[in-house]
Amino acid sequence: MGPTDLSMLELGRKLGSGELSSVEAVRACLARVDRLDGRVKAFLRVDREGALAQAEAADRRRTKGKRAGPLDGVPVGLKDLFLTEGLPTTAGSRSLESFVAPYDGTAVKLLRAAGTPILGKLNMDEFAMGSSTENSAFFPTRNPWNLETSPGGSSGGSAAAVAARMVFGALGTDTGGSIRQPAALTGTVGLKPTYGRVSRFGVVAFASSLDQVGPMTRDVPDCAALLQTIAVYDPADSTSAPVKAPDYLAEIEGGVKGMKLGLPREYLELPGMDPEVRAAVEAATRALEKMGAQLVPVSLPHTKYALATYYLIAPAEASSNLARYDGVRYGLRVEGKNLLAMYGRTRDQGFGLEVKRRIMLGTYALSAGYYDAYYLKAQKVRTLIKQDFVDAFRTVDAVISPTSPTAAFRIGEKVSDPLAMYLNDVFTLPCNLAGLPGLSLPCGLTRGNLPIGLQILGKPWDEARVLRIARAFEREHDFHRRSPPLGAA
Ligand code: GLN
Repeated sequence: MGPTDLSMLELGRKLGSGELSSVEAVRACLARVDRLDGRVKAFLRVDREGALAQAEAADRRRTKGKRAGPLDGVPVGLKDLFLTEGLPTTAGSRSLESFVAPYDGTAVKLLRAAGTPILGKLNMDEFAMGSSTENSAFFPTRNPWNLETSPGGSSGGSAAAVAARMVFGALGTDTGGSIRQPAALTGTVGLKPTYGRVSRFGVVAFASSLDQVGPMTRDVPDCAALLQTIAVYDPADSTSAPVKAPDYLAEIEGGVKGMKLGLPREYLELPGMDPEVRAAVEAATRALEKMGAQLVPVSLPHTKYALATYYLIAPAEASSNLARYDGVRYGLRVEGKNLLAMYGRTRDQGFGLEVKRRIMLGTYALSAGYYDAYYLKAQKVRTLIKQDFVDAFRTVDAVISPTSPTAAFRIGEKVSDPLAMYLNDVFTLPCNLAGLPGLSLPCGLTRGNLPIGLQILGKPWDEARVLRIARAFEREHDFHRRSPPLGAA
């Protein structure tokens, strides 16, 4: 067993005791990147020198007895949506291919303060629009469990890097499932916190009423530790809430005895559910029942409208957020014979097909004459979806469901059929529309040896309980310890 087989917290303890150094940990990660990333293609940029310098600084802090915390010296990666001073931030887009931010975003600053060397920037669907990482302008990332399949998206590079043990943990973002779905497809743990829990200052915006930053890790305690590092109120993000984060590790081993877990009827009836996923999720809920939880059927009657609602609201907000890529302020500029021609050529060459599709959908939904019929209606339905959860949480402590209706699908299988791709998100979208915390953790493997994810949705600000439920399941199963066949040696 090498250092990269350790969890973040295990490595942190060994760094604290001096049994291992951060430089050794970074070198072990870099060796795996060299060996595996030519095939997985999780990284857009590896920052060898930067990571080694940060590791040396961590090792010096420890010899002086000044460790910054439990994760000091533990190498991590960042989805390439996080602004990083001195390193390119592409958002997976040609339009930002050579953009270098003049500052670190808040979550990145908090990681640096916690002492975690940043190994590099990870691939993603362009502007986080997608569910397979195939919409990256650069290349698709592959799933370490089976290189013919997708690791999911849009934080597919982060998920693949964590699963292949090239980093110990990573940050992703989740607007409609982009942390949880790739976590499910790669057998890792991913958490989308409550809207407002983590600052988005210095994160490229996709759909501002839905976007949230969160941790992607190999197990649940690591997820708690990484969340702890970034869950800090930030006045620089007007949607960051002044709600103090509890100690997420304090009660994580408390178990589920006496908890009421809701099983939404509508979720298991949705079309397109893979029977193997259904069976694994049902087995997981029975396991939680055995551990002392009470399973309670609940109804979320507006679930069937979530997909349509999301695909109006998210593109509408995206069309507005992406107006800033005009060839003047950021990134790519393609000259034209006048200003309008320059805008047109810049945006035509800078954006990929899916991004253009979203801008067109969003602009249409917001345009005079259609606004009431589409955007306003979607906002009203969003309120109904939110209300479904308010009602369910009157009787249950958390809601359990599959994360994704299928395990990893083949690269190329859905990319030409946007609707099939969007259907991936049926279980993850309602949580964003309602602003709730949601976590995915591995709960099984298909006959084809591909991971299956279990989703746990909590009340607003109740991440601690979500983590506790996830940990109870994880402790009695070993799915999180299985590693992908790739480079297992
Ligand atoms: N797959 C969804 C989309 O394409 C969600 C993406 C996300 O969460 N960033 O919009």
